[in-house]
Formats: sequence, structure tokens, C-alpha cells
Amino acid sequence: MDFTLDPAIDDVRRRVRRFVDERLIPLEADRANYDEHENVREDVLAAMRLQARAEGLWALQMPDARGGGGLSFVGMAACYEEMNRSIFGPATFNSAAPDDGTMMALERVGTDAQKARWLQPIVDGRVRSSFVMTEPHPGGGSDPAMISTTAERRGDKWVVHGRKWFITGAAAASHFLLIARTSDDARKGHTAFMYHRDQPGWRLLRRIPIMGPEEHGGHGELVFEGLEIPDEDRLLGVGDGLKVAQIRLGPARLTHCMRWLGLARRSLEIANAYIDVRMSGGKRLAERESVQLLIGEAALQVRIGRLLVMHAASKLDAGAMARNELSMAKVHVADALHRAVDTAIQLNGGRGYSKDTPLEWIYRYARQARLVDGASEVHKMVIARHLAEGADTFWDWNHLDRPKRSSGK
Ligand SMILES: Cc1cc2nc3c(=O)[nH]c(=O)nc-3n(C[C@H](O)[C@H](O)[C@H](O)COP(=O)(O)OP(=O)(O)OC[C@H]3O[C@@H](n4cnc5c(N)ncnc54)[C@H](O)[C@@H]3O)c2cc1C
Repeated sequence: MDFTLDPAIDDVRRRVRRFVDERLIPLEADRANYDEHENVREDVLAAMRLQARAEGLWALQMPDARGGGGLSFVGMAACYEEMNRSIFGPATFNSAAPDDGTMMALERVGTDAQKARWLQPIVDGRVRSSFVMTEPHPGGGSDPAMISTTAERRGDKWVVHGRKWFITGAAAASHFLLIARTSDDARKGHTAFMYHRDQPGWRLLRRIPIMGPEEHGGHGELVFEGLEIPDEDRLLGVGDGLKVAQIRLGPARLTHCMRWLGLARRSLEIANAYIDVRMSGGKRLAERESVQLLIGEAALQVRIGRLLVMHAASKLDAGAMARNELSMAKVHVADALHRAVDTAIQLNGGRGYSKDTPLEWIYRYARQARLVDGASEVHKMVIARHLAEGADTFWDWNHLDRPKRSSGK
């Protein structure tokens, strides 16, 4: 078992790291670089994006032919972690949620025409996207089979009625990937579509206020009142909606984990810098065993998370769906991020609770990690189901589930 990084991947990782250290982290310190939703201001982001692109550090998750970096999932894991050592990182490199997940899904399921229309503008950074699945009660949330927003076929069009919420980026997105009900079939009753912001028949009811800082475009509640979608904008077949959702959500869960590892590492970096110099009772905090136990435990959990992420990434690269591994990584890294940032705040004392460091930003952001793309409880149920159904393969080192995609760089 070889845990060394391919030199080509490590080279990209180092370049991302340098960019983050030299250009992005210094920007975070100035409140003037933030918008009113606590994310990087659009004009500051645009300038940084130009630089990232000029240096070939753009959309690393996309094929070279599309203007991306052509990285495998393992390569992405190494680079995304470095990116999100800055809270401005993922958006700068065009590897932020929800766009990276939408891009990866369209690359896999889109026809050439659909990729030209819906995917390429996102890769180019000309538009943003949203993934439109979750609904308020009594619609679909943890159980997507409960999705009740309907798309009714009328000739060569589909007409959509219903309501969605917590749609990340909705106020700034142009390209929307929608999951709607098209029949009563329990397993094949949903279909996936693309639609454009300018199409009539839907509206943004509100931008939902949340506890954490917001992605650009916030989290929207959407109402559909007769949105018409041409059949050519349907993704895969009628009834393949939940399949598209899984293809979208699986890798996107893992890229969340990759980014969260970066936030966790940054938290520990800030903690280490403080305990290295801060004195108490005649000793540096770093010399106190009780402090070492706290920071050692947090670092251990982050490292376990990294191994789980890399294992899931290598399985995706080998062509597996890796649902079990993705769920394990998602549950663990969400908790490891909490542990790391909570520890860092504690060890920074009152300073940790202030806005003088990004720790409080990361702490508020981190709370969503146990909810988004499936609550931790639901992922633990997936793990339990895999154990029950495949007790003989669950512990098998070489077990591969259904083929997914060919590997990249
Ligand atoms: C910041 C943020 C961004 C989001 N972005 C998007 C987005 O871009 N697009 C999108 O479509 N959705 C998005 N979501 C929605 C997110 O995916 C859902 O909130 C999540 O899947 C949980 O669904 P729910 O909120 O309906 O919770 P519910 O289904 O109402 O569940 C509530 C709680 O019950 C528990 N629970 C649920 N089911 C079970 C079960 N079977 N067994 C045991 N316990 C259970 C869990 O603890 C869960 O948290 C976002 C949410 C947040 C908070």
C-alpha cells in the first residue's frame, strides 16, 4: 500500500498551497474584502480568479479539454484540502459547492449538446449553478422518494409545479439542475432537468437566513408555478432522476469532505501558532500536556478523515460507486471539522471567540456539515445497511461495487 502522492499531483498541490498562502490568506484579514453575507466580495473574487486561471489552477476537477485540471479524485483530495485552508479558496479555483458537483454530474450524464449549453459556461466561470432537490415538509428531504414537486409532460415540454428550499446559490445561479416527480413509480418516479434563471414560471420566494456565512447566492426557497422545460433539457431518461441525484451527490459529498479537511487544518494551524507563544503559569501553552492532548486528538481525527477521503477517492478512481466509503468519510470528516475548530477556539481563549481570526466563521459554517448532502444519521444507516447486506464483502479489501467512471490523472 503506497501512500505517496504522484509527483504531478503533488506539484499542483504545492502550487495551490503557495497561492493560498501568498494571495488568499492575506485577503481574509481585511473585512473590506467580504460581502454582506460574509463571503469574498465579487470584485475581489474576480481578480483572484483571473490569477488562478492564469496559473493553470482552475476547475481542477474538470478534464483538460474543457479547460480544467484533469485531476483524478485522489488528486482532487490533495488539492481541495489545500484550497480550503483559506475560506476564500474553493470559489477562487472554481471548485466550490455547488458548482463543482454540478460540473461533475453534467460531465458524466450530459449529451454533447447539453454539455455545451449547460456545463461549459460553469467551467468557464461565466455563470453559477444550483442543485434543486430538497423540499419543505411534507416534501422530500432525507428521503428523496418523498419529493413531490411535479413535472408533467405536455407534448415536447414539461410543466413544473411545487416548492424547494435550502437551494444553495439560488440567488446568483443561472443554471439549475432540478429533480422533480414525473410518475408515482417508487424507484423510477423522478426525472432530472436543467433550466435557466430567465425562464418564466418560477421565482425565488426568499433567501433563507442561516447561522453561518453564505455561499454566493445564499440558500433559496423556490416556488414553481408552471415553469416550462423543453424535453431536450432532460438529463438521462425519464425516471432516472434519483440516479442523476446519486451521481451528483456522491462525488460532491466527497469534495465537501476534502474542503472541510482544509478548514480543519487551518483551524489547527491557528491554534498551534497561538499556543506556541502564549504563556500561562510560566510555561508556553504548547508545553502543557493537557493542551497537547486536545490538539493531538483533533489532529488525529483530521488525519483519520484524510485517510477515509483518500480511500473513497481511490475507489471512485477505480470505477466504484463507493457509497459505503463516501458515507463513512462524510460522517467522520464532518465531526473531525467540528472537533478541530472547537479545539482551536478553546485554545485561543477569548481571541478564538472574536472575529480577529477566521475561527468563528469556520465554527458557524461547520455546523452545516452534519446536515448537508445527507444528515449523519442517514449516512450511518447506509453504512449499517451495507454491513447487513454484504457482511462477506463489507470488510473485503478489494471489494468494488458497480463501475462508475474511468480514472483520470
Ligand atoms: C446550508 C445548507 C445547504 C444546503 N444546500 C442544498 C442544496 O443546494 N440543494 C438541495 O437540494 N438541498 C440542500 N440542502 C438541504 C440538505 O441536503 C437537507 O437539509 C438534508 O438532506 C436533510 O434533509 P431535511 O432538512 O429535509 O431534514 P429531515 O429529512 O427533515 O430530517 C431531519 C433530521 O431527522 C433525522 N433523520 C432524518 N431521516 C432519518 C432517518 N431515516 N433515520 C434517522 N434519523 C433521520 C436527521 O437527524 C435529520 O437531520 C442544504 C441544507 C443546508 C443546511
